[in-house]
Amino acid sequence: MRVGFIGAGNMAGAIVRGIVAEGTVPPEDLTVTSAHGRSAQALARETGVDAAADNLELVERTGPGGVVVVAVKPYLFAEVLEPLADTLADLDSLVVSLAAGLTLDTLGSMLAPGQSVVRVMPNVNAMVGAGMAAVCGNAATTEDQVDAVVGLFETVGSALVLPERLFPVYSAIAGSAPAYAALFVEALARAAVRNGMPKAQATRIAAQTMLGTARTLLEKGVAPTQLADMVSSPGGTTVAGTVALEDAGFSAAVVRGIQAAVDRDAEIA
Ligand code: NAD
Repeated sequence: MRVGFIGAGNMAGAIVRGIVAEGTVPPEDLTVTSAHGRSAQALARETGVDAAADNLELVERTGPGGVVVVAVKPYLFAEVLEPLADTLADLDSLVVSLAAGLTLDTLGSMLAPGQSVVRVMPNVNAMVGAGMAAVCGNAATTEDQVDAVVGLFETVGSALVLPERLFPVYSAIAGSAPAYAALFVEALARAAVRNGMPKAQATRIAAQTMLGTARTLLEKGVAPTQLADMVSSPGGTTVAGTVALEDAGFSAAVVRGIQAAVDRDAEIA
C-alpha cells in the first residue's frame, strides 16, 4: 500500500510519525506535500518519507489504487481536490479526508462520480499516540479499503468504523471533549490551589489521575459507575463529593454541553 499525505501539519505529521514508527507502511512508500513545501520537507527529513514537489506529483507517485490522505484545513478542500479529480479517478485512488464537518456527499461533489472516499475524524490526542478516530467509507469503498484506513489510524491510537449519521455526536465526545476534559483538570487544580497546593503540581496530579482513570476503564473493562463505587466508601469523602457535584448539576451540565456541540454542528453543516 502506497500512501500520500496532502498537508504536513499537526495531524498529518502525527499520523506519518505513527505509521513510520510502527512500520505499517515503509517510509519509501509514503509521500507528503505542504503549501510551500517547507513543512513537508521537514517531515520528510525527520521520518525518511518522500516530499513531492506538488499535489499532482504526490497523487501520481502514490500510484494506482494508492491512498491519498487530504490533511489540509476544511476550507481548502475544494481548491486542493478539484484539480486532482481526473487523476484520482484514472488511478482509482482511495481518497481519505480528515476534514472536520465535510460530509461524504460534499467530498464526492469535489471528485469524479464513483470515486472511493473515506471520511475520518481523528482527534488531537493522535499527537501522543492516544488518539481516537472514527472512519466511514462511501458507497464506492470496499470493506478492505475501510479496514486499511482503520489500520493506519490505529498507529496513533484507537480507530473504529462508525455510520456517518453518528459523526456529529462522535465529534462532540471525541473531537470537542479533550477541551472539556482539560477544563475539568483545570477545575480540579483550581480547587487544590484553593486548599494551598501550587498550581503546577495540582495540574500534574489531576491530569495523571484522568490518564489513569481512562486506562483503568479501558484496560480493566470496568464500567464508569463500578469504578465510582470502588472508590466510594460508605459515609466517606468521595461520596460526599459526588453528591455535592450532582447537586450542582454536574452530569446534567455535561449532557447539555455535548448537546450544544451536536446542535451547533447541525447549524453549521
Ligand atoms: P495544520 O494547519 O497543522 O496543517 C495543514 C497543512 O496543510 C500544512 O502543512 C499546510 O502547509 C498544508 N497545506 C495548505 N494548503 C495546501 C495545499 N494547497 N497543498 C498541500 N498542502 C497544503 O492543520 P491540522 O491541524 O493538521 O488539520 C488538518 C486537517 O485535519 C483539517 O481538515 C482538520 O479539520 C483535520 N482535523 C485536525 C484535528 C487536530 O486535532 N489537529 C482533529 C480533527 C480533524
